[in-house]
Amino acid sequence: MAILEVKNLNLGFQFENDFKQALYDVSFSLEQGKMLSIVGESGCGKTMSAMSILRLIPKTARITSGKILFHGEDLLEKTQKDMQRIRGAKIALIPQDPMTSLNPLYTVGDQLLEILKIHQNIQGEAALQKAIEAFEIVQIPGAKSRLNNYPHEFSGGMKQRAIIAMALCCNAEILIADEPTTALDVTIQAQIMKILHEIRNYQNTSILLITHDLALVSEHTDEIAVMYAGRIVERGNNSEFFSNPTHPYSKALLKSIPTNRGEQLETIKGQPPTLSQKIEGCKFNPRCEYKMEICTQQIPAQKEITPEHKCACFLI
Ligand code: SF4
Repeated sequence: MAILEVKNLNLGFQFENDFKQALYDVSFSLEQGKMLSIVGESGCGKTMSAMSILRLIPKTARITSGKILFHGEDLLEKTQKDMQRIRGAKIALIPQDPMTSLNPLYTVGDQLLEILKIHQNIQGEAALQKAIEAFEIVQIPGAKSRLNNYPHEFSGGMKQRAIIAMALCCNAEILIADEPTTALDVTIQAQIMKILHEIRNYQNTSILLITHDLALVSEHTDEIAVMYAGRIVERGNNSEFFSNPTHPYSKALLKSIPTNRGEQLETIKGQPPTLSQKIEGCKFNPRCEYKMEICTQQIPAQKEITPEHKCACFLI
């Protein structure tokens, strides 16, 4: 059952005399205990889609239409006070840079205990045990003694684990992980992905992962949505997407994944369009090797390849 459904979300930015649309009819759903990865290059709208769920969008951004249903209730109709109760407690964010979420003046343990007090009303020995448990789940060695450390005493990977432990202490139903491994080296990236995978499996937490790295998610994610220039261009479950990637942009992303066979990497020529760039038809057409006349005239609608796999391209 879907715990979260984003339906036809449209969002834009208000500039002085101009309104520029950034998200076009973005729709996806996240099932209980599953991981959905939204994949695309920087600026494609994936972070803005995720931040819309938490209603943490920039002041200049405006959601013009759509619904964000959490347990069937539209988050876009909630008051700011309601949203404060939902953020952290029900839907928690794991940011790209863990330093933005850790207060350098307090020990990591104190910050965890504070969260347990606020969100779960647990204090004293019971809170300490919960904090140790959360550190153990995210595989921080010597959990009890590491609670006494300040954030600067943790490596980047350990800080990110501590942030995930904080989200666990909130008992959040959904974790939104925004490029959670970007600043980490490859080995630590794999460890963080494994931890997220285990949290999903054993705690039944739903995870929305925002990433530019298809290789990172291939083993762990249940569903994939590929975004380009503010639109979801392909979505599917893991096996169907990876066995039959269909959109030329998805194929190009997959070809640009490094392999250990020493093959030369292919790059995607050109750049994603900026907000002010006007491109008629399919926005991928200036970079697409399969471009046809219709691609510069009309926007392709999403078509069903199978019930679990959809793609927006005139080749289908
Ligand atoms: Fe390429 Fe046309 Fe498909 Fe767009 S619609 S991805 S330009 S083939």
